[in-house]
Amino acid sequence: MAQTTPNHTQTVSGWAAHDSSGKITPYIFKRRENGVNDVTIKILYCGICHTDLHYAKNEWGITMYPVVPGHEITGVITKVGSNAKGFKEGDRVGVGCLASTCLECEFCQSSQENYCDQLQFVYNGIFWDGSITYGGYSKIFVADYRYVVHIPENLPMDATAPLLCGGITVFSPLKDNKMVESPGKRIGGDGPWRPWTHCSQICTNAKQMQRCRRTLDLILDTVSAKHSVGPILELLKVNGTLHIVGAPDQPMELPSFPLIFGKRAVTGSIIGGIQETQDYAGPTPVGHLVNTANWVCQEAIDGARLRCGSGTETLVTIGGYRRYSDGGGGLIFCSNNEDGAEDEGDDYKG
Ligand SMILES: [Zn+2]
Ligand SMILES: [Zn+2]
Repeated sequence: MAQTTPNHTQTVSGWAAHDSSGKITPYIFKRRENGVNDVTIKILYCGICHTDLHYAKNEWGITMYPVVPGHEITGVITKVGSNAKGFKEGDRVGVGCLASTCLECEFCQSSQENYCDQLQFVYNGIFWDGSITYGGYSKIFVADYRYVVHIPENLPMDATAPLLCGGITVFSPLKDNKMVESPGKRIGGDGPWRPWTHCSQICTNAKQMQRCRRTLDLILDTVSAKHSVGPILELLKVNGTLHIVGAPDQPMELPSFPLIFGKRAVTGSIIGGIQETQDYAGPTPVGHLVNTANWVCQEAIDGARLRCGSGTETLVTIGGYRRYSDGGGGLIFCSNNEDGAEDEGDDYKG
C-alpha cells in the first residue's frame, strides 16, 4: 500500500487526523487522475458520521494515519471518464462508504456490494491501484462511477449527504424487515437515530421499559459504545428482531434468556447496496424523509462550517471540534462554499 501512486496527479486540500488525539487539521494530498471509469467530484458537503470519529481516534485499532475521514459526500461532477456510463459534467451526485469491491462475487452481481468480502472504503481503504483512500473532508473526490449515485434536483445537497451512510444504514434494515410498507408495525430505536414513520416509544427509565415490554416488532440499535442488549430484548414481541448497526469496539453482552423465551433474533447490517442507496436517495418515495432534517448552523472550526440537526443533542468531542448527535441527522462539513452561495448557515427549510 502507498499513500499515492504515480497516477496521483490531482492536488487536493482537505482535513486529516494525524494521530490518535483525533485532532483534525488542514492537509494537502494527492488524488488519482480521473481514469476511464472515474468521475471527479467537486465536493459541496460531507456528513460527519460516528465512524469518522472512530477512525480519527483509532478506536478500532485499524487507522492508517493520516486519515481524511468523510463518507457522506455530495457534490457536482467536474470530470467524467469515457466508461463512466450515465454521468456527465455538472451532475449532482453522492458517494457513500464504498470505494471499490471485486465486481464479480455473488454480492457484487446482485447489488449487494456492501457485503463483498473485498470491499474497500472511501477512506482508510486500499484502492485497486494500491493507494490508500482519502475521504470527503476535502475539496474534490475521485470515485469509480459504479459507486456513485445521482441526487435528484428536489433534494438539497446538504441534507442529502447524511443519507449516504447514516440514512441508508437505518433505512436498509427497515426495508428488509418490511417495516416501510407495513403500517401498524412498531419500531424502537436504541441510540442516536431519527424516529421513523411508525416509531412508537421512547423509553428512558426502568418504569417505561417495564411498560413497553413485548410491544415492539423491531429495534434498531445504533449505539457505538459497549452496552448490554438484555433489557432491550425484553421490549420486543415474541418473534421480534433486534437489529444492530452501531459498532462498539467491545463485544456486547447478549443474554440467552430473552432470546429463547421470546423466540427473538439479533441481526446486523452495514449501509446498503449502491442501487438500494440510489433508490433511497431518489425523488420518491423515500426522498421525502430528508425533510425530517432541520439544519441549523451550530459550530465553526478553523474556517470550516459545521452544521447539525436540531433536537436532543449529545456533545462528542473529537480533536479540536465538537459533534452534536441528534438522532441520525449528524453534522455537515461544508467544503467548496467559501462564497456562501450554497451555505448561508440558515435553518434548512425542507
Ligand atoms: Zn458512516
Ligand atoms: Zn464482490
